[in-house]
Amino acid sequence: MSAPNPPSPTAAQRVQPRPDVVAMEGYHSPQVSVRVRLNTNESPFPPPAKWQAQLAAEVSRIEFHRYPDRAAWNLRVAIGELHGVGPEWVFAANGSNEVIQTVCLTYGGPGRTAAVFEPTYAMHRHIAQTSGARVVDGARGVDFSVSEAEVDRVIDEAHPEIIFLCSPNNPTGGLAAPELVRHTLAATTGLVFVDEAYGQFASWSAQSLLDDNSPIVVSRTYSKTWSMAAVRLGYLLAPPWMVAEFDKVVLPYHLDSLKQAAGTLALGYADEMAARVEQLVAQRERVDAGLRSLAVDVWPSSANFILFRPRAVDANLVWQRLVDRSVLVRNCSSWPGLAGCLRVTIGTADENDAFLDALEASLDGALIDSSEIP
Ligand code: PMP
Repeated sequence: MSAPNPPSPTAAQRVQPRPDVVAMEGYHSPQVSVRVRLNTNESPFPPPAKWQAQLAAEVSRIEFHRYPDRAAWNLRVAIGELHGVGPEWVFAANGSNEVIQTVCLTYGGPGRTAAVFEPTYAMHRHIAQTSGARVVDGARGVDFSVSEAEVDRVIDEAHPEIIFLCSPNNPTGGLAAPELVRHTLAATTGLVFVDEAYGQFASWSAQSLLDDNSPIVVSRTYSKTWSMAAVRLGYLLAPPWMVAEFDKVVLPYHLDSLKQAAGTLALGYADEMAARVEQLVAQRERVDAGLRSLAVDVWPSSANFILFRPRAVDANLVWQRLVDRSVLVRNCSSWPGLAGCLRVTIGTADENDAFLDALEASLDGALIDSSEIP
């Protein structure tokens, strides 16, 4: 009797992704249904009603059977005007994540190196790796700042083509000091990517360092201050010779007509948005003071979120107790360098009150009890 044929491999066994992709972890941000959502650093306010009405009128004029303006020229002109530069200094994409991806595909990729300073925004590493680049780690100090000596060490050891500085840094909240960004630009032979997704909440922007002879990229997003996370729109400012390379790499017609219209119209509300930023900064200071009155360590923030660490209660337990009180914050406690840390987004005054009350109750009298950890 002949042996039975071995089962033929399934399609999933035959078709293998790149080994580096198999080894990767995806991006995880649990969405739990709660009353107070303070986990993803969005604006707590919807866009202005007038913008919504204007957009509806604009959408009715779109020629849907035609491709969009490939260069997204009106949008680039409007963004350039906002920042006092010409449209040739602007590159827009589907969220600043696609901005990061385009930079990594253009200046990263196989045989090249990107540097990140952990703990920082996880997608810098992830997107650089997806492009095929090697990622090297720089470290932050105990206050989560990056030192010039550490930048020099990373440059000397790895000669990265891309150095990511996140300012303010997600999730720790601190700003990259102007001297540090200047130093990095002077020391590297690669480009310096300053991620300013939260730049409007900070007192300084690396935009002031934009120069045709400086290899600097400054990225911004519509997802936070512009109240447009659902739209998926972000952009960068960089010297025109760099922008020309990004335009070659990005897919043709990647920005649809609705998005271009939405982004261009939104810039007509710059004053209103600046007032909202002021309001959120005032709320941030209030939440900061509230946190400092509780048994948690707090890091000063220049963004619309605050990192904190419960002193005597396990962070996973605090996170779960907050969820039980219908408040969702980001649990960073398993991220590298962030043991025991949670991050709260600044919301409306009511949401912030709900958070502070729920946190106080969640910390009350409880010592570390791992039996309650989910
Ligand atoms: N950069 C940083 C530092 C962020 O925190 C985020 C969003 N969490 C992004 C970029 C991506 O933003 P988006 O793709 O929504 O523009």
